This record gives sequence, structure tokens and C-alpha cells, in this order.
Amino acid sequence: MLNFWQRLGSVFLIALIAILVGILAGTLAGLVFFSASLLWLVIHHTKHMADLEQWLLISDHTPSSIPPGSGIWDNIFALLARYVRTQNQSRQLINLELKQLQSVTAAMPDGIVILDERDHIEWCDPVAEKHLGINLELDMGYQITNMVRQRSFVEYLAAGKFSKPLILKQMRHHRLTLLMQLVPYGNKQKLLISRDITSYERIDAMRRDFIANVSHELRTPLTVVIGYLEMLTADPDIDMEMRSKALKAMTEQTMRMQHLVEDLLTLSRLENTLNKLSESTVDMASMLHELHREAESLSGGRHTIKLSIDSENQILASREELRSAFSNLISNAIRYTPDGGEIGIRWKIKDGKGLFVVSDTGVGIEPEHIPRLTERFYRVDSSRSRDTGGTGLGLAIVKHILNRHQARLKIKSAVGKGSEFCIEFPEKRLIKKS
Ligand code: ADP
Repeated sequence: MLNFWQRLGSVFLIALIAILVGILAGTLAGLVFFSASLLWLVIHHTKHMADLEQWLLISDHTPSSIPPGSGIWDNIFALLARYVRTQNQSRQLINLELKQLQSVTAAMPDGIVILDERDHIEWCDPVAEKHLGINLELDMGYQITNMVRQRSFVEYLAAGKFSKPLILKQMRHHRLTLLMQLVPYGNKQKLLISRDITSYERIDAMRRDFIANVSHELRTPLTVVIGYLEMLTADPDIDMEMRSKALKAMTEQTMRMQHLVEDLLTLSRLENTLNKLSESTVDMASMLHELHREAESLSGGRHTIKLSIDSENQILASREELRSAFSNLISNAIRYTPDGGEIGIRWKIKDGKGLFVVSDTGVGIEPEHIPRLTERFYRVDSSRSRDTGGTGLGLAIVKHILNRHQARLKIKSAVGKGSEFCIEFPEKRLIKKS
């Protein structure tokens, strides 16, 4: 209030001087002086108000752009300059903090979307744009459910119970699996966090498949063994022929389970990254002669098995693992080749690489199966595989062993004509025989 009377003081002063002029020079002179002074005051204020309006209209409000003023306007403009300065400082501070926040969120692997109280998009980071197919420039202010249309998400948002996350499969733009979590905060706003869990999901699906496969593989032999055990328990005086038939079948099924467990343990050992490769110089010729003898005994004279050793090169490898991989390929060739067929085992060098080749004139494999043969439990003909004592894990074991030796498996096959499984060893693993 004091300011108001102070500011009015100049008008009182003009009036007082005008009264004095009126007394000294006549009423008319006093009135003219008073009117002229008031007119000057009005012009003075109008000019400064116009300057202020002009300044308010410009976009860049800096203290230096504030117009100069006189009288009361000098004070007003100085106060305005101080206000603009503090505003600019706090804006700079906010910008700095925003930049820091943006660089933190950009470094995060999760997507973040800020939703207002009506679930409209206020802001999101580039990861969320990628995950949810949002274009922040175009979609800001739109309902999140316009972008994420999955029913489960719409229901999750509507239910308002965000203690548990939601898993969303196969998003619109990518084949992604996302873990979505909503976190309410502030004034009824929400933070939507999206995490890409596609690879975890794939591993989890593989784990589930693996457990289902192992259970399935064990169930059949167990059912047979349990069936015969029940039969023997129920009738202790069963005749000798039936008894020996039951014991033979139980032994076969138990051995089948034993092979499966052995193969599973081998796979798990090979997959264990802590299990380092114990390398030594492997004498290929002596190992192949050994494997040839074993193949002859496994075939029992049903096939012609030829061994060709065209190179004296030895190999730097784990003897035990190499033997296991080679014998898997040879036993497959015997098992998938009808009686009278031919099987070839060959060691040679081509283009500087060491090649171990097993060929057969067996049943062959259709081309569409070839890329999947090294998957665990993948079989072209399940009953043939089981009947010949296969576990469905042989080629998976071979693949793991070859990976550990930086070697590759190449498969060629023609249905009804036969197959060729070739292991290609890199040059660095070859050792010339001195
Ligand atoms: P399995 O124990 O069933 O033989 P593998 O992993 O060793 O398992 O082989 C996977 C599948 O590849 C086999 O079930 C079979 O269908 C096919 N296969 C492997 N080797 C041969 C071969 N020499 N000839 C034809 N099919 C083969």
C-alpha cells in the first residue's frame, strides 16, 4: 500500500505545482500546466507499456533484451530482468537434469513409457518405441492401448492391479516376448516398463521341451519293466520260457534307459563351460583301425565296411571326445543301412583341412530334416531309431564335440541311396607325422 501512495506522490506534486502556478500566473496557466504534465505522464507510461508488450511478444526472453526504462519503469524493468535471470537459470538446471535422465534411460535395456491419468502417452524412451512400435513424435497424447492392442494388456491396464508383471507375446512389429510392468506414481500417472525376454522365453521353452522329451523317453521302458515285474510278482510259479522272456525284455529296456542316462550325462559334461578340453596328439590311424574293428563287430557281418586312411596327419584333440563323435557316426551308418549295404570310413586332407567321412548306402534322409538332425531328440523315423537302440542324442553330442574342436559337420544324403557325414577339422588342429 505504501508503494501505491509513493507512486501517487508524483501526481500530487504536479497538482501542487499547478496550484502554485495558478496562484502566481492565473488559473488558466495553472490548468494548462496541470493538463500538460498529466499528458506527459500518460505518454511516458503508454510508451513503456508498449515497450513491455513488444518484449512480451518476443520468444527469447533474456535479461539483455528487456527495454530500458525511466522513472518507475526503470525499477519495473530491473525487477523483470532479475525474474527472467532466475527463470533462465532454473530452466538450464532442469534441462541439464533432463539430459542426464535421458542418457540414463537411453543406457537402460528396458523400455519406459510415462502415461497420464487417462493412460495417454506423455513420454517414452527409444527402447519403448522399438518394443511397442510407438513413434513418440506422432503418438504423444494418444491412448497407449492404440499402440499395444493385445487384449491381455488392455485388461491388465483396466484391472489396475499392477503387483505382478504381464507377459506379452508376439508384438505387432517384432516377434518379441515382453515383460510389462506398470508402476503407478505421482498424480495418478503410471510408468510402463517393458523388458525384452524373448531369449529367456526361448531357453525356457527349450528346457520344458527337454524335460518333456526325457520323461517321454523314460516312460516307455519303465512301463515295460513295471509290467513284467508285476507279472512276475503276481505269478511266482510262471513257466521258465515266460520268465526268461520277461527277464530279456527287462534287461533290454533297462539298458535303453542306461544309454539314455549316459548320453544325457555326456551332453551335460560337454555343455559345461568349466569342463576344459584336454587336448593331446591323436593318432588317427590307430584310432580308426580300432573303430573299424568295433564297427565290424556291431554290424555282425551284415555290411561291408571299408576303411581308407589317405593321410598320415594326426590331430590335436581330446581323444575320448573324438572317439565318441566318430563312433556315433559309424554306429548310425550301421543302424540306418539295411543288411548287405556298404559303409565307408575315410580320413583324408582336402584344401588343407582334415576330413573324417562316414558314408553309407542306407535309407537316406529327406532334405528338410537335415538342418535339424543335430537337435536333441530329433529323429526322422522314431521307431527305427528306438528299435536300433538310438537315444536321439547321438548327433547332438557330435555337434557339441565338434564345436569344442572348432570343427564342422557337413551332411549329404539322398533318400533310398545313402548318406555321407563329413567332419571338417581346421588346419590349425592338424599335426604332420614326423
Ligand atoms: P538316434 O539315436 O535316433 O540315431 P541321432 O542323433 O544319432 O539319434 O540321429 C538323429 C536322427 O538322424 C536319427 O534318428 C535318424 O533319423 C537320422 N540319421 C542319423 N544318421 C543317419 C544315417 N546314417 N542314415 C539315415 N538317417 C540317419
